[in-house]
Amino acid sequence: MVVVYSTLLMAVLGLAFGTFLAYAAKKFEVKEDPRVELVKQALPGANCGACGYAGCEAFAKAVVAGKVTPDMCTPGRAAGVAEKIKEILKQNAAS
Ligand code: SF4
Repeated sequence: MVVVYSTLLMAVLGLAFGTFLAYAAKKFEVKEDPRVELVKQALPGANCGACGYAGCEAFAKAVVAGKVTPDMCTPGRAAGVAEKIKEILKQNAAS
């Protein structure tokens, strides 16, 4: 009988904690600007740090926040990354 009660207790606790975690994840969800992902996709993805940030994602967040100009990505200069980023920011600012 102890095994049955223990199993039931664990199942109820699992369901309760799972429900709580699902609620907390939804309640405290951090909404990110969708432009960050678009800018990140336009970057070379080398994560070299030449822009002064820890990686491409940090640089993308800084560009979208307006903390840095789009032309700071040295490896992406030849590929016209700065122009692509400006276009992304311009398009999404209009919509
Ligand atoms: S310089 Fe460009 S490739 Fe290097 S981390 Fe910064 S954004 Fe990424």
